[in-house]
Amino acid sequence: MSQVEASVGSRTRINVLKKVKINGQWKLCSAVAESSGRLKDRVRVNGHTEIHPEGVYYIEWRENNQRRRQAVPNRNEVLEHARLKALELDARKAGIDVESPQPAPAPAPMAPRSNLVSMGTRPASMDATQLGRAAGVILQGIESYLRELVGAEVKAQLTALGIDTAKAPLEVHLALDSESVPKAAESAAPELPTPEAKANQSVEGKTDLSEAIDSYLKNVEPPQRERKTYEEYRLVLYKFRDTCGKKFLQEINRDDCLSFMRHLYSIGNEARTVFNRMGIVQQLLRLNGITGLLQGRDKPKFVSNVRKMYEPEELESLFKACTPDEKVLYLFFLLTGERDKEIRHTAWTDIDFARKCVRVTAKKQLGFKPKDKEEREIPVPSSLLTALKEYKARQAGSNPHNLVFPTAGGRPDRKFENKLKKIARRAGLNCGHCESKHGNKCSEGPHCSRWFLHKFRHTFATASLESGVSIRTLQEWLGHSDLASTMVYLKFVGRKDIHKLLDSSQMADLAAKSLGLAYADANGEIAEA
Ligand SMILES: [Zn+2]
Repeated sequence: MSQVEASVGSRTRINVLKKVKINGQWKLCSAVAESSGRLKDRVRVNGHTEIHPEGVYYIEWRENNQRRRQAVPNRNEVLEHARLKALELDARKAGIDVESPQPAPAPAPMAPRSNLVSMGTRPASMDATQLGRAAGVILQGIESYLRELVGAEVKAQLTALGIDTAKAPLEVHLALDSESVPKAAESAAPELPTPEAKANQSVEGKTDLSEAIDSYLKNVEPPQRERKTYEEYRLVLYKFRDTCGKKFLQEINRDDCLSFMRHLYSIGNEARTVFNRMGIVQQLLRLNGITGLLQGRDKPKFVSNVRKMYEPEELESLFKACTPDEKVLYLFFLLTGERDKEIRHTAWTDIDFARKCVRVTAKKQLGFKPKDKEEREIPVPSSLLTALKEYKARQAGSNPHNLVFPTAGGRPDRKFENKLKKIARRAGLNCGHCESKHGNKCSEGPHCSRWFLHKFRHTFATASLESGVSIRTLQEWLGHSDLASTMVYLKFVGRKDIHKLLDSSQMADLAAKSLGLAYADANGEIAEA
């Protein structure tokens, strides 16, 4: 892995940096490319490689003895911007008048750029020497472009042969050419990487396992993730390191993964936990470019009833037992499929009555970030919006964060699940024979394991698929970063004995009925009952 810079020909160096948040402050750090040559939010911080999804990329260069920087908001366009800037500067040095070229939108970095150098604007004063230099620059540009094309072609052929190009990195256009680094630039830019920094990162291109783990953990430290999550990651990764006994990431193989899984089973973990914990290790490996160690049959299997759904009848009974405000809250769970934490942090500004949707957005002042950093919006039935409007009108009390469902003190409410269990108990909906981890019997109090918040999300997901929502759309609504998580719900679709009644229009009906409204007409408008 090397620091990223685009050096086209030998004259001009463009540094690629990223402004990231370190200990609460924004800092420019050198970007680090994957072995595939792409940028995936990796930067050098104090000699360590860290992953920073936040912040913006910059390209940096020297021009007329001054350092210049330009932000490139789209990660996929950064390298192309850098390459074009290098060509532009080379051309200027050679006396060619060029416009600042704009790259085509990603992902098309291989497309030819015939408009790069506008030859028509050649100054009349250009002499033979300048012309010669200009021609040289253009040839260098063409050569570099051809190198990229050839690189892409070779990569394609390797992939066709089943060879993982990520494991056999092709240094095509991200060569670190220390000869071309101007000394002045080094001293003027303290953020630039030093050779020492690179030395302790790797020995012969290998990544130290302990360092990789620590660098990974830094990125999940609170408040980036919840403390509980962080503790679990740390536990799992340290355990993995101790179990496998390898020094370098690159030495880890399938057997190491399998014996770690055996270890997890041996200390009493269930298949699902083993799966989740192995997933943490795989994430570490993947971020370091190591994939495919485990095959399908290696992965832990667990019973398929891990996604429990509410039945329409029990929901109707639940909503009947709700106060008007509770009803709005739990309908919100059912009809948006949002996570507990997301609903806890939903503000009134996230409810778009005009466009009939709700949004999941970060709330910096409350330390809330959507999982996987994805803000998103989810369309909702009119019945819910009507209910929300009425609820808003009667909402009282201090609400400094403008939350939709705050505590009495105006804070995010962490008790939605407890409250749900109380309603279920009140409505006589406890199963009557389960017992919680702490030994609380649901026959005696609000402890029934059949009632939990995430079950609304499962119900929403399955019902959406059954009503014909595409898996891609549902992935967006649920805010899943990978499709596999969404696809789990496909298993439950079409079990008509249970879920026949639960398509989206029926959910809307149910909401309307519970709210004392007539069902929605064809335009989605709600008529008063
Ligand atoms: Zn129970």
